[in-house]
Amino acid sequence: MVRGLKTTVMKEQIARIIDYIYESGWMVNLNSRRNEADHFSKCININYQTRGKKLYWTLLHECGHMIIRSNPATFMCRYPGITAALVSEKAAGYTNYRVDTVREEFNAWDEGEKLAEQLGLELDKKAYRKFGNTCLLSYIKWCTKNK
Ligand SMILES: [Zn+2]
Repeated sequence: MVRGLKTTVMKEQIARIIDYIYESGWMVNLNSRRNEADHFSKCININYQTRGKKLYWTLLHECGHMIIRSNPATFMCRYPGITAALVSEKAAGYTNYRVDTVREEFNAWDEGEKLAEQLGLELDKKAYRKFGNTCLLSYIKWCTKNK
């Protein structure tokens, strides 16, 4: 019973975030291969195998990217390394790009947590952070890898 109730709450929370994405003028594709917030097509793509809590947390995180990227001027100012890489392939190999990418990842997890509060959603912050940290670690490894 409790398990069923939790599943219902989770589904409602997921539905609320999806509504929020559409209210923000973006779309959601839950049948993607990757997890990403594509600001060119204004679409949040979620890997088709993501379900339950992981889907909830991933949606919050990708919404974090959506929020961060909603104002281009602010974005360009906060993440000059990413901005440079958007126009130059060479810049994508630079330290500024890698570190700014990691910075955006950290910030997107924080924004996701703020969004949950803003929408009045229940969130196990400890579990959310722990899940976020495993995702962040892969970016940190990528960032520090010698080319
Ligand atoms: Zn991310």
